[in-house]
Amino acid sequence: MERVIIIGSGPAGLTAAIYAARANLRPLVLAGGMYGGQLMLTTEVENYPGFPDGIMGPDLMIKFREQAERFGARIENVDVLSVDFSKRPLEVTTAEATFKGKSVIVATGANARWLNIPGEEKLRGRGISTCATCDGAFFREKHIVVVGGGDSAMEEALFLTRFGYKVTVIHRRDTLRASKIMADRAFGHGKISFIWNTAVEEAIGEEKLRALKLRNLADGTRSELEADALFIAIGHDPNTAIFKDQLELDAMGYIASPDGVSTNIEGVFVAGDVNDIRYKQAITAAGAGCRAAMDAEKYLEALEFPIEEAIA
Ligand code: NAP
Repeated sequence: MERVIIIGSGPAGLTAAIYAARANLRPLVLAGGMYGGQLMLTTEVENYPGFPDGIMGPDLMIKFREQAERFGARIENVDVLSVDFSKRPLEVTTAEATFKGKSVIVATGANARWLNIPGEEKLRGRGISTCATCDGAFFREKHIVVVGGGDSAMEEALFLTRFGYKVTVIHRRDTLRASKIMADRAFGHGKISFIWNTAVEEAIGEEKLRALKLRNLADGTRSELEADALFIAIGHDPNTAIFKDQLELDAMGYIASPDGVSTNIEGVFVAGDVNDIRYKQAITAAGAGCRAAMDAEKYLEALEFPIEEAIA
């Protein structure tokens, strides 16, 4: 019987592992076949405190992992296939085994949506990004393109005006999905212009992004647009498929939590992007992992040493 099972191994899961391990809970981390979360797909990380010269995303996650293991976390690179939170102990099943736990921390993250166009994968981190907060500063005085028509796209476009000499928003329809206030801010900004009814079909460049191939969806015409950066802001998909019938999800499929830590099942806690539609930063996920581990520890303490027993 495990005391804490942590599902996921991005900044949230591994920070939860560090805290749970240091509380002597010997957590079992089911890290996924590809551990480390979204930072494994990132190049330079310059906004994680403690690294004034920046650090590569995968190197940062190796450090998280080593720190968790140093204090006794057991990390298995396996995918969780299903969970059963209707039982006590709680059950978590992989292809190899079913693990039983007194508490579970869900830190499975969310994946940014990509366009899945030619050139995109090759140029990720070389001009193509899904995080303006993380990568905007690399494109000072450059032409920056944002794809998407929602609030995220507007927010990113507005933020990116601090860096680019020009920001072009490309949207597949002729009206925005974004809220009026965000849309108005973007419309009113002198550096932002819009290309409507248009899909980005290909990213061109060798070492770094140079241009985008566009197709006008209204009349089918094709064109090329020179661009130094492409920020894709077309939404995120939380990794909650295995929790669908087990935990309460919100309308967008994220795990619902009244306080950003607890879930509708006692003993099951949540941390990181799987519960965060707003911040989605490594540092906020790490903070959430810390909170989840501390609450799991308190929960276990109450479970294992009930107050009546302590008084007796
Ligand atoms: P979203 O509202 O789902 O918008 C996604 C946008 O991307 C839509 O305009 C959509 O086009 C477009 N899109 C989707 N797939 C695409 C594809 N394959 N190719 C091209 N375009 C594609 O997602 P979001 O903007 O990330 O926002 C998520 C939630 O967070 C929303 O509820 C939003 O209000 C909230 N949010 C709020 C704020 C804020 O208030 N400051 C900031 C960020 C996010 P269509 O319009 O044609 O579907």
